[in-house]
Amino acid sequence: MALRIGCCAPPGKACDNKTGSWRVFLPTIDQDTCTLCGNCVLICPETALEDVDGKIVVDLDYCKGCGLCAEECPTDAITMKLEEK
Ligand code: SF4
Ligand code: SF4
Repeated sequence: MALRIGCCAPPGKACDNKTGSWRVFLPTIDQDTCTLCGNCVLICPETALEDVDGKIVVDLDYCKGCGLCAEECPTDAITMKLEEK
């Protein structure tokens, strides 16, 4: 979904709006530092993070690059990096 002037998005659940096209910064996760505490999965407003077989993965269709997950990670396992497109 493209971001329109005024940052308007249709109402609905997070999974109704694919906000991945908004992203400038991409969360990258150091799996060696991650303790699988689950904070990032809970805090992500777009439900874009998931524990898949003991590894936190990012759903690029939904991650808007807000950085909340990196802010809330207690072990600093998440780094926001400028995404090359
Ligand atoms: S940056 Fe992190 S908190 Fe923000 S949408 Fe992406 S995965 Fe979720
Ligand atoms: S908040 Fe950090 S340590 Fe916790 S599951 Fe997410 S990446 Fe891993």
